Amino acid sequence: MAPSTEVSTVTDTQAQLQLNSTPINHALSDVVKTDDWSDFAFRPIRESTVSRAMTSRYFHDMDKFAVSDVIIVGCGSSGMSAAYVIAKNRPDLKIAIIEANVAPGGGAWLGGQLFSAMVMRKPADLFLKELEIPFEDEGDYVVVKHAALFTSTVLSKVLQFPNVKLFNATAVEDLVTRPAGPNGEITVAGVVTNWTLVTQHHDSQCCMDPNVIELSGYKNDGTRDPSKKHGVILSTTGHDGPFGAFSAKRIVAIDTNKKLGGMKGLDMNNAEAGVVKGAGAYSGVESMYFAGMEVAELEGCNRMGPTFGAMAVSGIKAGEEILKHFA
Ligand SMILES: Cc1cc2nc3c(=O)[nH]c(=O)nc-3n(C[C@H](O)[C@H](O)[C@H](O)COP(=O)(O)OP(=O)(O)OC[C@H]3O[C@@H](n4cnc5c(N)ncnc54)[C@H](O)[C@@H]3O)c2cc1C
Repeated sequence: MAPSTEVSTVTDTQAQLQLNSTPINHALSDVVKTDDWSDFAFRPIRESTVSRAMTSRYFHDMDKFAVSDVIIVGCGSSGMSAAYVIAKNRPDLKIAIIEANVAPGGGAWLGGQLFSAMVMRKPADLFLKELEIPFEDEGDYVVVKHAALFTSTVLSKVLQFPNVKLFNATAVEDLVTRPAGPNGEITVAGVVTNWTLVTQHHDSQCCMDPNVIELSGYKNDGTRDPSKKHGVILSTTGHDGPFGAFSAKRIVAIDTNKKLGGMKGLDMNNAEAGVVKGAGAYSGVESMYFAGMEVAELEGCNRMGPTFGAMAVSGIKAGEEILKHFA
């Protein structure tokens, strides 16, 4: 039977009548008084003013965060979770997040195979509750209707902390290291950064030296200032790829006692437990912490597949360890 057009016509008319009878309210209602918006105008601005508004703030931030207390490499789900915990508890710490991509958030914008929903096993739902992210309770696990809802909410909360600065489109190319003991021990003392586009073109361009963000707690001669707590690096660069597992790969070159574990086959139960267990301070190199799937690469845990509880919880655990360091 052909669908009736009459029904939809009646419905459209009713909707139109309702619309006409309801005053429309939006953010500009008070300034736009005409139906055709002919009275609307932006305030004037000079192009150079826009330029200065951006660059003055960016370079002020570069100056402010040139020495940071916590440097988080990678702004995926685990890095953001850690940043949230640290920034919330210690507004006095300077936290720099370095993200290679233009868009922060890592791999947590979708569930598995490009599906929308995000699965988290309990008790990771407690973090969702704290962030006021709605979910469906399925007993042992919960489901957020779209992974992007989780990622955008954590991101927005993290970026609102005044002590957090996100440098995106910026890649960490290396770690700054310093001697740390009589037996050749090494400590990390900062990160070597560059615009990601520059990092990607070192082969074809020359003379593109990087920049550096140093950890706090060092004197001008590069030695540790014993009167201060020294800063730390938390690496959360995800599983291996063109940029992934960055610090894990670098750290095994510094710590000759360590070999890269390499991510093993998929086993959700073991993978999530392993990532949380391995998250936190790295015993081989002082001041170095790991969370998220980079732990799986470093320690040889299973891959977890599209379940994200371990990303949030490993970030929280690493964040708690960093807070204890600064206590
Ligand atoms: C479609 C899909 C499939 C998935 N499949 C799997 C799977 O099979 N197995 C699995 O374990 N997980 C899988 N996941 C889950 C998910 O990708 C990750 O496990 C999870 O996002 C990892 O979180 P993370 O915080 O450890 O790192 P990520 O979310 O990967 O975030 C790492 C961030 O670090 C940044 N970064 C990397 N290197 C550098 C650098 N040198 N400098 C600065 N920034 C850097 C990256 O750009 C990225 O934003 C999948 C996710 C999706 C969306």
